[in-house]
Amino acid sequence: MSAKPKIAVHKFSSCDGCQLAFLNLGEDLLRLSELVDIVHFAEAGALAPEASVDIAFVEGSIATPEDLERIEAIRANAAYLITIGACATAGGLQALRNLADAPAWTADVYASPEHIASLDTSTPIAAHVKVDLELWGCPVNARQVLGAVRALLFDVPPVEEHDKVCLECKRRQGVCVLVARGEPCMGPVTRTGCGALCPLFGRDCYGCYGPAEQPNTPALARRFAGLGLVPEAVARRFLFINSGAPDFHDEGLKWREGEGS
Ligand code: SF4
Ligand code: SF4
Repeated sequence: MSAKPKIAVHKFSSCDGCQLAFLNLGEDLLRLSELVDIVHFAEAGALAPEASVDIAFVEGSIATPEDLERIEAIRANAAYLITIGACATAGGLQALRNLADAPAWTADVYASPEHIASLDTSTPIAAHVKVDLELWGCPVNARQVLGAVRALLFDVPPVEEHDKVCLECKRRQGVCVLVARGEPCMGPVTRTGCGALCPLFGRDCYGCYGPAEQPNTPALARRFAGLGLVPEAVARRFLFINSGAPDFHDEGLKWREGEGS
C-alpha cells in the first residue's frame, strides 16, 4: 500500500445506499481524505473511473452487459477490491429476477422492453472477478467501511465478521423477539455487523447482512413454520434481500417448492 493510498468507489446496479455509508462519515470523511486520495467517487464529485488505485470499493450487482466489461477493467486497475453491500456480495434484491422469467417481468414493467439492455440475472461481483473482502449489509455502515480502510492503512488484513446477529443481540442485552414474542426473526442465521439494530428496536431481523457462518437454516425455517407461517411465507423470509446467497437461496427454494418440513 502506498504512503497515501488511492481509493475509488464504483457503482453498479444498486440504490446508492451503500455509497452513503461513506458520505455519512461526516467529519471522519474529511479526516479520511487526509490519509487517502479519493480519486473516483461520482456521488461525491471525484471522477476518474479508469484510474489505477490501491483500493476499489464496489457497490451494486452485475446486471447489464456493460457491467460485465466494466468490472473486468476495475479489477485490473485495483490492487485490492472490496465489495460493499448485499447487491455487490449476493446480487441484491434485484437477484429475485434469477428465480423468475426475467424477460417476462421486463415486458410486464416497461412499455417498450426492447430498449432495456439487461441481463436475465443479477449476480454478485465475486461471480465475475476476484474479490479481496466482502462487506455485507443493506446498507453497509460507516464502521465497517472505516474499519476496512484503517486495517489496510496499517497493512493488516481486515477482520471479517461471521458471528450471528443473536450473539450481538445478547451482548447488548436485547430481549429475544423470537422467543419472547414469537416473531420470525432471522437473527439466528444472519451475519452480525449491524449492532443487532432491529431486535433492539423490538422488531424481527429480516436478514439484510446475509448468512452467518454455518447457519442452521433448516432448523430456523421449521421454527418459523411452527410459529404458523405457511410455506410460501417461510420461503419469503429467505428469498429477500440476499436471495442470491447460497444458504438463503437453497432454504428458501426448498420451502417455495413445497419440500420444506
Ligand atoms: S445493498 Fe442495499 S443499500 Fe446497498 S446499494 Fe444495494 S439496495 Fe442499496
Ligand atoms: S437486525 Fe437484521 S435486518 Fe436489522 S439491520 Fe441487522 S441484519 Fe439487517
